[in-house]
Formats: sequence, structure tokens, C-alpha cells
Amino acid sequence: MHCSYLSLSEDADVVVIGSGPGGYVAAIKAAQLGMKTVCVEKNATLGGTCLNVGCIPSKSLLNNSHFFHMAAHNDLANRGIEFEGLKLNLEKMMEMKSGSVKALTGGIAHLFKQNKVTHLNGHGKITATNEVTVTKADGTEEKVRTKNILIATGSEVTPFPGIEVDEETVVSSTGALSLKKVPERMVAIGAGVIGVELGSVWSRLGSNVTMIEFLGNIGGMGIDLEVAKTLQRTLQKQGLKFKLSTKVLSATREGGVIKVVAEDIKKGKQQEIECDTLLVCIGRRPYTKNLGLEEVGIKTDDRGRIPVNSRFQSAVPNIYAIGDCIEGPMLAHKAEDEGIICVEGMCGGSPHIDYNCVPSVIYTHPEVGWVGKSEEQLKEEGIPYKVGKFPLAANSRAKCNQDTDGMVKVLAHKDTDRLLGAHIVGSVAGELINEAALAMEYGASCEDIARVCHAHPTVSEAFREANLMAYSGKPINF
Ligand SMILES: Cc1cc2nc3c(=O)[nH]c(=O)nc-3n(C[C@H](O)[C@H](O)[C@H](O)COP(=O)(O)OP(=O)(O)OC[C@H]3O[C@@H](n4cnc5c(N)ncnc54)[C@H](O)[C@@H]3O)c2cc1C
Repeated sequence: MHCSYLSLSEDADVVVIGSGPGGYVAAIKAAQLGMKTVCVEKNATLGGTCLNVGCIPSKSLLNNSHFFHMAAHNDLANRGIEFEGLKLNLEKMMEMKSGSVKALTGGIAHLFKQNKVTHLNGHGKITATNEVTVTKADGTEEKVRTKNILIATGSEVTPFPGIEVDEETVVSSTGALSLKKVPERMVAIGAGVIGVELGSVWSRLGSNVTMIEFLGNIGGMGIDLEVAKTLQRTLQKQGLKFKLSTKVLSATREGGVIKVVAEDIKKGKQQEIECDTLLVCIGRRPYTKNLGLEEVGIKTDDRGRIPVNSRFQSAVPNIYAIGDCIEGPMLAHKAEDEGIICVEGMCGGSPHIDYNCVPSVIYTHPEVGWVGKSEEQLKEEGIPYKVGKFPLAANSRAKCNQDTDGMVKVLAHKDTDRLLGAHIVGSVAGELINEAALAMEYGASCEDIARVCHAHPTVSEAFREANLMAYSGKPINF
């Protein structure tokens, strides 16, 4: 595909506002399709939330805190790896995290050059339907006339009413990625995906972590409840404490102590929990501040999102929006996919994305990965289904790795055997889930999957076995 309508009168064919996974990927793709592309980013570094204060730094800390936890809790000793004088060098761990962030954000600058994307550093505002004005750090302005505008301005942390974040002792996810010492006691408000990941990091490094969650389950909405319970049990064994169906009422600082008052929403009972670091992690909201939307006639919805059609066009047809600032799961890969098909659509392509096939991953240990429908959703929608399950305790690779916490659960249509959902708890669930997503995209049945030869010994054999169970009722190794 190559763009057929390049503009001669404008400075650009497309101006992308924001360089997160949605924006930077869209900009590269647009340039590859032959469009004159400008990407405006207000931050000093490219990559948005994901690379700077999201996916990448959190995964670096999750990976390295897991090694520390293995060493500190005899996991390594039990494998015959003995040592004395274990010590945490948090500064070094943070340096490694920053190194990964620097390398990857710098990599985007390199990719922009390679693909001839013009990068403008400054705040982008839509000042006409075909004009973006960029205000740079020194206060100077640059106007760019363009055929299309693509908004990829992402999201920001949702504040908790009445609790002020200072990013030192009361932190959002951003502050929790850069604490200078391990808090003795941490309370996290919110045990969704980001909450349990960051709670895990600090718990593994020695903090006594209590997570307070309004919902009756951890892992947020949409997670299969059996899977959420399995994860919760494992994290509790690791030392994390959960207070579910509990609502935080207030948090006040008294000297060096933060007192959190919470109420059990089922029993109506109040309790006070003390901590030295409070993590506020109740979600994210779309970010469209000072973007000039109102002035060009674009209204956001009741949750601050930009309404778009299936081609990602807003109320103004040449102004598009993708990623966290529109409806849908706030995930980096969702933003990337939207970015690619959105610019292909600008060039005449037919954008299509099946949101049911967008996988979700929680990068705790074990990880959780899921795609498609949960059992609760299938029940709610009245779809007849069958279940195939396989425990990792019966998988040879998990067994020889001494890493058997978890299971694979697949849900298939009762009559057609088509895979409708896959839910995996296990140390490599984040990798395995992509096989399930591929199968779902191609409309595979459980029998199709079970008949594919899987390498041995691999954890992916557990996925095959779960499918074998769903279609024949009988796995081989369990
Ligand atoms: C702690 C944490 C962990 C996460 N982990 C994962 C994970 O493991 N996997 C996953 O899929 N997702 C994860 N996410 C979510 C993921 O980061 C987001 O879904 C993703 O970054 C959204 O991409 P985006 O391009 O829509 O927006 P963003 O990444 O938010 O990027 C938007 C960019 O636009 C810029 N911008 C905004 N307004 C303007 C303007 N007017 N002018 C110029 N620039 C502007 C911002 O500075 C920013 O750089 C995590 C998030 C957090 C906070």
C-alpha cells in the first residue's frame, strides 16, 4: 500500500500529536506509506506513558525484583545456588530501569530519522481543522499546515478526590516506579493490573504491602474470576495482603505516618490502616488538555474520550484519534494497532480491528494473560460453552523449572468447538497468550489447536492440552 493523495499545498500530510505507542507507531507507518509526517511531542523524550512511566520501567522492576525475591526466599538455594550476604542495591536496580527507558526512547528518535518523520518538540494545539500550532519550550510557536491530524495524546493518572499526590510518600504509578527506598509499609488503593504489578515489585523488595480494592476481585474488570482468584491466592502466598470490596474514605498524614480509613462495603465496617507510602492506583483518564478540541467542534464524551467512528475519524473527518484518548482498553498494543490501521485508512485502506482478540497481560509472578471472553461474559451473553483446563503442575517444562503455579483455561463454543476465550496463569502467560490470540483471529477450533504439533518440553504444551480437554474431554498428561 502506498498513499495516493499526497498534498502539495500543505506542510504535512499528517500531523500526529503525541508520541506514545499509538502516536509514534502511526507516524512511522504513515511515513512508510509515503506521507509527509510530523510528530509533535511535548515531553523531552519520545515514547509516551508506555516507554517513560508505564510498560517499560514497570517490567524492568518486575523482572529484577523477581530475581531478588527468588534469592531472598530460598528459591535459588533450593535449586542448589547458594550464596551469602544478599543485599539489595535499589539505586542500581533503578539505574537499570532508567537505562532500558533511555535506550528504547532514544530508539524511537532513531526510527523517526530513518523513516523521515519530522519530530517537533513542544505542545501541539489544533488551531484550525488543517493546522496545528506547536508551542516550544522557549515559548516560540510553529504553525504546521496539514491535510490530516491524528490525535494520540493518551491518558493521565486519575486523581483520588481529597488525596494529594506528592510523588514522594503519596505516589501515583509514576512515583512508585522511582521510590528512593523500600517503604516499610505500603498501602495501595486499587488492585487492578497496574496496582498488583507495582504492589508486587515493592512486596518482593521487602515492603509490607496491603492492597485495597473496591471490586470483589483483583486484576480489574473483564478478568475471568476463577483466574483472578488463582492469582490472588498465589500473590497472598508471596506476602501481599488484599482487602477486597473495600472503599477508601480518606488518607491523612500525621507526622511520618499516613493513616488510611477504609470501609468494607458489604459489612459497612470501617478500619484504619497505617503506612509510610501510599500508592494511588485507581486508573487512568484520557488526556486532551489544551488541545483545541472545542474550538474545532469536537466534544468529548462523559469520560473525557474523543468519540470516533470505525475509521477513527472524529466529528471533524480529517481529524482522527487513537489509543488511550478514545474508547477501549488502555493498552499499548491496542494503541499501536489502531495507529497502523488508522493511517492505512487515511490512504484508502479498510480499517478493521477485532477488539475481542486484543490480549491483556498482568506481569506479576505468575503472569496472567487472557484474550476473548471470560466465563462470566459467556454466561451473561447466553452463549453455550465448554471448558478445557490444564494445571501447570502437570506440565513437564513447568515441573523441571520448579515453576508450577498456574493453569490454562480455554472456553470454546459448545456446538462448534470454536475457541472463544483463553485464560492463562503461569510464569510465561504473557508470551503464551499470543498463540491464543492468533488462534482466535483465525477462528480456530480447540481441535485445530490441539492437532498443532507443539515443541516439547514447553509450557505451551499446557495450552495444547487444555484445548485437547475442551474438544475431547481427555487431556493426555493429567
Ligand atoms: C505503570 C503503567 C504500566 C503499564 N503497563 C502496560 C503494559 O504492560 N502493557 C500495556 O499494553 N499497557 C501498559 N500500560 C498502559 C500504556 O502505557 C498505555 O495504554 C499506552 O501508553 C497508551 O498509548 P497512547 O499512545 O495512547 O498514549 P501515551 O502513551 O499516554 O502517549 C501520549 C503522548 O502524547 C503526549 N501529548 C499529550 N498531549 C500533547 C500535546 N497537546 N502536544 C504534544 N504532545 C502531547 C504525551 O506527552 C505523551 O507522550 C501501563 C501504564 C502504566 C501507567
